[in-house]
Amino acid sequence: MQSADVVVIGGGIAGLSLAARLAAHAKVVVLEGESAPGYHASGRSVAFAHYGLGNVPVRDLTALSMAELAAHGSVHAALHIASAGEIAALDALEDVHRHYACDYSRAGPEEARGLVPVLKPEACAAVLIDHSSLKLDTHAMLQACVAGVRAGGGAVVTGARVQSIAREGAAWRVETPAGSFTAPLLVNAAGAWADVIAQLAGVRPVGIEPRRRTVISFPAPEGEDVHAWPFTKTVGEGFYLLPEGRGQLLASSMDQTPSKPCDAAAEELDKAIAADRVEQATTLPIRRISHSWAGLRSFVADELPVIGAAADVPGFVWCAGQGGAGFQTAPALSRIAAAAVLGQPFPEDAGAAGLSFAMFSPARLGA
Ligand SMILES: Cc1cc2nc3c(=O)[nH]c(=O)nc-3n(C[C@H](O)[C@H](O)[C@H](O)COP(=O)(O)OP(=O)(O)OC[C@H]3O[C@@H](n4cnc5c(N)ncnc54)[C@H](O)[C@@H]3O)c2cc1C
Repeated sequence: MQSADVVVIGGGIAGLSLAARLAAHAKVVVLEGESAPGYHASGRSVAFAHYGLGNVPVRDLTALSMAELAAHGSVHAALHIASAGEIAALDALEDVHRHYACDYSRAGPEEARGLVPVLKPEACAAVLIDHSSLKLDTHAMLQACVAGVRAGGGAVVTGARVQSIAREGAAWRVETPAGSFTAPLLVNAAGAWADVIAQLAGVRPVGIEPRRRTVISFPAPEGEDVHAWPFTKTVGEGFYLLPEGRGQLLASSMDQTPSKPCDAAAEELDKAIAADRVEQATTLPIRRISHSWAGLRSFVADELPVIGAAADVPGFVWCAGQGGAGFQTAPALSRIAAAAVLGQPFPEDAGAAGLSFAMFSPARLGA
């Protein structure tokens, strides 16, 4: 039996970034069911930070995270493209970029095609170029968190799929194939499995909805150096496209198919839709998909993260529902979650941005 101050269930970016913050204050053990951290959603992202997704609080969390993210990212432009019928949506996105004082510019098809020559003019009737978005090194982010946990005297235990959770007096007792663990505080950072963990602990679930997203990779056109192409995304339903090294491009139709928590895999139809959307808007012929994958982005009904103590059961803290922005919000969200675990006040800068514990509380979801 190993004892700690806090046991965190889930070795993705949510659990690890929180555990790294807590490690300076408490003995933390992270339990990860797979043989390595980041096997599920956190190992399957496209590793980008931008303002083209999410609701207002998620964008606020992104803005609060950008300075810290820069340590694990490099500036890489995002090109938000609109057809003639989508200009109003692009105007709204411009308001967002102005609000966060981003370094951005508006342009038309000529400039857009200067950046991504394969775009058809009608797909980029108007564009917004965000010159300050970031390509992230998500592997380095995860590893830095693991190092932070260890530096604070904590541990990240892999192969530790939590099988049972029991309350024994003032402590939780957690059973895994890698041993038994006990702590007065238990953090649920199990991503798509967060409701499964809640049920194991006798806590009311929050209604986590995992949604599958598919990514395809295919060879860049012969003779075209694509590595400097911006992350290119339609403002409406459509696709995104970004370079992966020198010779490959990644694309997604931004699918979000409801799924059970599972080891998600790309389905043929979703791959075909992604390829078709790219072919419709560009002159790229996708003759061969080199590889593909899918991952689960986990949401609750209002698409805000769930951070805070369960009202019904003492010592159980939620850190879930990061949706499609778990990396780009991790620096700010882990500070908020650490404050919730340690019983500290809400971070001042996040409060000044209009965020609050109440906004993220599981209580808003009846938990
Ligand atoms: C295709 C795709 C593209 C994306 N692109 C971006 C992007 O560009 N930028 C961005 O910010 N975000 C992006 N995201 C979203 C981001 O990846 C997620 O928000 C983030 O990874 C969620 O982290 P997590 O730690 O909550 O979940 P996970 O990484 O899934 O971690 C949860 C962990 O809990 C573990 N677990 C579950 N049950 C148990 C148990 N019983 N015992 C022990 N361990 C357990 C799992 O094994 C898993 O490792 C993308 C996601 C996808 C799928």
